[in-house]
Amino acid sequence: MTPAGFRLSIPRSVMSGLRSHLEAGYPLEACGVLIGRIDGQTYTVREFRPMRNTVVDRPHDRYRFDDLEHLRVQREAEGRGLEIIGIVHSHPDHPARPSAFDTNWAMDSRDSFNAYVVARVERGGMMEARTYRLSLERARLEEEPLLIDDAGEKPPPG
Ligand SMILES: [Zn+2]
Repeated sequence: MTPAGFRLSIPRSVMSGLRSHLEAGYPLEACGVLIGRIDGQTYTVREFRPMRNTVVDRPHDRYRFDDLEHLRVQREAEGRGLEIIGIVHSHPDHPARPSAFDTNWAMDSRDSFNAYVVARVERGGMMEARTYRLSLERARLEEEPLLIDDAGEKPPPG
């Protein structure tokens, strides 16, 4: 069981950057990380950081981060008092649900992320994004609310 009340909040501008990256990667899987803060049961995203998909033999339905790039992004976020709170990847022409591979990867990973976002990209356009969290017994990925936040937008510069 996942405790009630967890939610992922993403500013609309961040969501649009995420969308652009996943659409640009089509028909291959594209990936990235969400950087932000965790306040109680709310994960507040500040930034989306595109990451390289290092899978070469079947990048249309698999992704893997570059370990060094991951570490660099993580350190850079921590240096600013933020953290990687979630990871994102696309499912080209497939539903926005974790595959068995995704679930196993989440269960086996030594890194534990709070949010696993999966986005369906259909014919080059992102149709939907959903977020999941590893259940407490680490047995499966359970869906949680993904909120697009208009209020969290940064004020315009100047
Ligand atoms: Zn997947």
